[in-house]
Amino acid sequence: MAVWDDMVGQERVRTQLCAAARDADTHVTAQAQGAPAPAASKMTHAWLFTGPPGSGRATAARAFAAALQCTSPDRALGGAPGCGFCDGCHTTLVGTHADVEVIRTDLLSIGVKETRELVRRAQLSPAGGRWQVIVLEDADRLTEGAGNVLLKAVEEPAPRTVWLLCAPSLEDVLPTIRSRCRHLTLRTPPVSAVADVLVRRDGIEPEVAAAAARATQGHIGRARRLATDERARARRATVLKLPLRVEDIGGCLKAAQELVDAAAEDAKQVAEEIDVKETEDLKAALGASAGGRMPRGTAGAVKELEDKQKRRRTRTQRDSLDLALSDLTGFYRDVLALQMGSRVQLANEDVRDALDRIARGSTPEGTLRRIEAVVACREVLDRNVAPLLAVEAMTMALRAG
Ligand SMILES: [Zn+2]
Repeated sequence: MAVWDDMVGQERVRTQLCAAARDADTHVTAQAQGAPAPAASKMTHAWLFTGPPGSGRATAARAFAAALQCTSPDRALGGAPGCGFCDGCHTTLVGTHADVEVIRTDLLSIGVKETRELVRRAQLSPAGGRWQVIVLEDADRLTEGAGNVLLKAVEEPAPRTVWLLCAPSLEDVLPTIRSRCRHLTLRTPPVSAVADVLVRRDGIEPEVAAAAARATQGHIGRARRLATDERARARRATVLKLPLRVEDIGGCLKAAQELVDAAAEDAKQVAEEIDVKETEDLKAALGASAGGRMPRGTAGAVKELEDKQKRRRTRTQRDSLDLALSDLTGFYRDVLALQMGSRVQLANEDVRDALDRIARGSTPEGTLRRIEAVVACREVLDRNVAPLLAVEAMTMALRAG
């Protein structure tokens, strides 16, 4: 299976990347001979992948990284780079290639310290591969200071280094950085293409795959989770019942509290899965004695880890809440479609009764107002407001009338 096969519904970008990976060979040859990089090349040293959440930015970047490292003998015969089978492709895709560094973060931001480390790494020549490739999956989370550190590296890249940055949109990246990157836009993949990949790659039953793809409206990762994770399905079902429960103030406050509690519960679960082991590993590495006593001078490192874990909990909670709100937006969008008599395919066909009930009991203007309330809540949460306050304001705005 070629490295490009996981890029769902992105034919145009795929063609561009494939052409760039071909031209990349010419760069390597030119450099080996001390010649300048070929003019009009489709290859360049810094790329920026943007696209809505779930469109597969990181997947595209990883496929490109693999194609750059592809060592298939077929390439010399004109075969497309990115065979998916050779050592270069394979190790890149599983994350063990020595010359491919993938940075993803579960924190809210990437700081100066981590970025300096990356930039240092980017100065190295590739150990065995053709390129030193650095994939920064969350370039939108660089702090301004970190962005400035990165800028220098992107401005004057080492000859065999390639930066692959990913972000939701161009506006999420410092203008000085994005102006030095070649920009690729991914689109939201069609529902049918997402269902297809779930069947082909993950072996999910076609009917389940279709329902999950429809419910998540082209978000590949969420669709896969919905199709495979019982808990994710239960959460979505609860969220979609909310519109029926916000009839009086008491119902609104209760629904808000439950939404926030469920998100906190998610964060707690993630923390339990990772934090304990992480802390034990660090303490062991720092030389804790059998009784758990830490050697002198190691308190700072432990504190640093605790801070990181706390930031991760906040992030998980926020992401989880955002997911619920995005389900809610989808619900009211379906309601609006019913009220307008539009023939689009409903995302939440499985709760058709609830959709019908809300659609009959309200007006299109009212529905638009509710969609705006959910969108506003997502924006406010993004600015560090206490979650419960924001969500209560939203559920109150969802009331009938
Ligand atoms: Zn290959």
